[in-house]
Formats: sequence, C-alpha cells, structure tokens
Amino acid sequence: MKILIIEDEANIIQLIRLYLEQASFMVLSASDGISGLELHAREHPDLVILDLMLPGLDGMEVCRRIRAWASTPILMLTARSGEDDRIAGLELGADDYLVKPFSPREVVSRVKAILRRTAGDNAGANAPHVASNEEVRHFDKLTIHIPERRVEVNGQRVTLTAKEFDLLVMLTSSPERVFTREALLNQVWGYTYIGDGRTVDVHIGTLRKKIEAVKGAPHYVKTVWGVGYKFSLEEQEEHE
Ligand code: CA
Repeated sequence: MKILIIEDEANIIQLIRLYLEQASFMVLSASDGISGLELHAREHPDLVILDLMLPGLDGMEVCRRIRAWASTPILMLTARSGEDDRIAGLELGADDYLVKPFSPREVVSRVKAILRRTAGDNAGANAPHVASNEEVRHFDKLTIHIPERRVEVNGQRVTLTAKEFDLLVMLTSSPERVFTREALLNQVWGYTYIGDGRTVDVHIGTLRKKIEAVKGAPHYVKTVWGVGYKFSLEEQEEHE
C-alpha cells in the first residue's frame, strides 16, 4: 500500500514516514501542493495525507483538484481547531481529518481504518457491517455494484468517495432501519469520534447531493430528526 504525504513541515513528514514504514506502508512525500498533485497523478497512491496549510496552493485546493479526477481516500491534517475548516475539507471530499498536534500512532490507526473501509468487501472480518456477500443491490432507480464500488442512479453512473459509498452500503444494508450517527461513525469510519456527528452529516449531505443531482432521482437518504439517518423508498411516487 502506497501513501502520499503532502506537507511542508519536514519533521512532520519524517515522523509520519517512520511510523507508516514500520507498519509496512510505502511512503511518498511532497512539500507543496503542485508537486503533491504531480506525484498523485504519476504514482496513484492508495491514500493521501494532506496538510491543509501549505505554501502556494493550499490543502483545500489540492483536495478539490484530486477529487476532480480521483476518489483516492484523503486524510487531512489541520492545525486549525475551527470546525468550519474541517467541515469545508470534508465537503470537498476528504474522508477524515486529524487536528495537530496528533500522535503518529493515531495517524497510522486512521490510515488503516480508512483503507480497511475502502477495501470494502475485501475487508473481511474487520468490516462485517459494511462488507457484504451480495454482488449487486437494486432499489427502484438505484443500483449498487458492491465489488466494483459502482453506483448508478437512473442508469447514470454516480462517482462517490470511499466514505460516501460506505455510508450508502451501510444504509441500504437495512432499508427503513434508522442508523444513529454514532453507529455510522463506528461502522463506516471504524472508530468513534467523541461527539463529532457533524462528520456524518457532511458526508450524508454530499452523498445526497450526488444522488439527487441525477434527473428524476428520488430522495432516498432521509434524516430522522434527533436520531440519525435511514434509507427509504417511501415517497418515491412524489418524485416521479
Ligand atoms: Ca503546513
């Protein structure tokens, strides 16, 4: 597994590299956004660790450009404690974030958690809830090809990030069942954030936007106020 670190602080790269290499990852690094994007395009890493505060092209812009052509999982690093930056990053398609200062062990465990989820049905026992032996799920206008991680709405392909896909697989594993934010964090992210259900909200928001951008797409992912979310085929007639 190849990890690309885009970070301008050499000592942080060095530290993360050390721990990731000990965990048997291959590590590439870039100290600015442009060379990071070039490395990404050339090397096709399995995951990108992206610092938000970079000289020149900032992390947000790097994230946006990576997302324009790839669904590579992105773990953001941010020195800012402001929730707005984290939400903005997640909305741009980052999968997860860590606020500096963080422990290098935490980086390794986040990277592993993200990759485990991204591996989807190859994740085996580590992801019993997201993984599935089913090959394809059909729901009216929605089709999910699980092994290929491909989603079609009204016959039109919708490109989802790793987390958006995993959320959709999770929700559709049991239509009408209400999933709490905590349950989704646990099962899709692989660990529990303390009191950070906003991460789920943001990913649900971008997932919905992508599904509903397709003409005639029903509103499948429903909010259950004060509790969480569910996948439901109800009310689809209204949208036809
Ligand atoms: Ca920096």
